[in-house]
Amino acid sequence: MIWKNANRRKFLGSLAGLPLVGGLLPSAASAAARSGAAERDLIAELGVQSFINAAGTYTTLTASLMPPEVIGAITSAATKYVNLIELHDAVGKRIAELVKAESALVSAGCASALSQATAACVAGADRDKIQMLPDTHHMKNEVICQKSHRNGYDHAIRNAGVTMIEVETAQELERAVNHKTAMMFYLNHATPEGKIKHEEFVALGKKHGIPTLIDAAADVPPVENLYKFQGLGFDLVAFSGGKGMRGPQSAGLLLGRKDLIAAARMNASPNSDSLCRTNKVNKEELVGMLAAVERFVKLDHEAEWKMWEKRCDVVAKEVKKAKTVQTKVFVPEIANAVPHLEVTWDEAKVGRTREQVVEGLRKGSPNIELRPGGGKGLVVVAVSMMQDGDEDVVARRLREELKG
Ligand SMILES: *Cc1c(COP(=O)(O)O)cnc(C)c1O
Repeated sequence: MIWKNANRRKFLGSLAGLPLVGGLLPSAASAAARSGAAERDLIAELGVQSFINAAGTYTTLTASLMPPEVIGAITSAATKYVNLIELHDAVGKRIAELVKAESALVSAGCASALSQATAACVAGADRDKIQMLPDTHHMKNEVICQKSHRNGYDHAIRNAGVTMIEVETAQELERAVNHKTAMMFYLNHATPEGKIKHEEFVALGKKHGIPTLIDAAADVPPVENLYKFQGLGFDLVAFSGGKGMRGPQSAGLLLGRKDLIAAARMNASPNSDSLCRTNKVNKEELVGMLAAVERFVKLDHEAEWKMWEKRCDVVAKEVKKAKTVQTKVFVPEIANAVPHLEVTWDEAKVGRTREQVVEGLRKGSPNIELRPGGGKGLVVVAVSMMQDGDEDVVARRLREELKG
């Protein structure tokens, strides 16, 4: 033990005055105690405003809060040295078992998982090729995807030096396959817009011997999606770690074929001369992600769902007391598929525009961020990233704002 007993006593003594801290974060507290450091609120010290998250898992808004199990795992790992490769092997093995995948790695977010996956399909485990990326002159460097599946995050794929080849039908896809084809990419939340659905896409990949990657970043919950896509036959499956799973914001998962996951790791940190050396993952993300996956697969998802519906109900009941206000609970069919509350009102009759309400909540006390987007006389309250009791505050503040 490196910490001094006297320090520990002093620290625990200072915690005793703080309700909940010791009880909520036993591991965090003991890790802080080990270092002898009292907790500082740097966000407050810097004068940066925190807020109630009624928006959902938006990266700019820091997306999610890590549960105590995850924070505890991170703080315990933070005080120990370890061989990073050995720890990643062990964490990958455990996560693969938990999500029924052949193999798994922890990436620096889902976007990083997309880069690593592409590098694995282009350079594989060939050290010369790994060092050459993103120069892909003498390698397979085309990625086929449906036109409707193109999106901003595929920049992470293009980082590996590949060209996106857009197709719309299965016939076009087959015609696009050639000796330069490295990978086929599928964006899960674009499924309704694309002509080729999961099963056919996977079958085409297998027919032509081309690895398939699916981006399912925001598609858990439902928890079943953690197992679904490898079950359908995708060679590589990418998830965000810090969205619905509430792992570290700077972590993600890449699941899939053993050879490809091994190659994806060779194309990344800690290997200095590799494409994804820029996307470092340290022990904190590794153990934090494992703790998040462990928690998530065991979680009572039905109880979570009921809690979210209850929060929607609390807000709905209160805001409906205001003139012309109507509410509706909806669940997006795909991506962030959890209950949200849509609140609508007659802007003319109430005398409050959508922008005024959004700004009023944003600048009120406490600050509240609503889900971005919406239209005239319409806001959306996302409840899944709230903390207990936030729904009462949001209900009261939203009603105040809608009083006109
Ligand atoms: C959020 C998101 C990403 C990026 O995930 P990070 O974990 O923030 O890197 C990629 N693809 C889609 C579809 C997303 O929604």
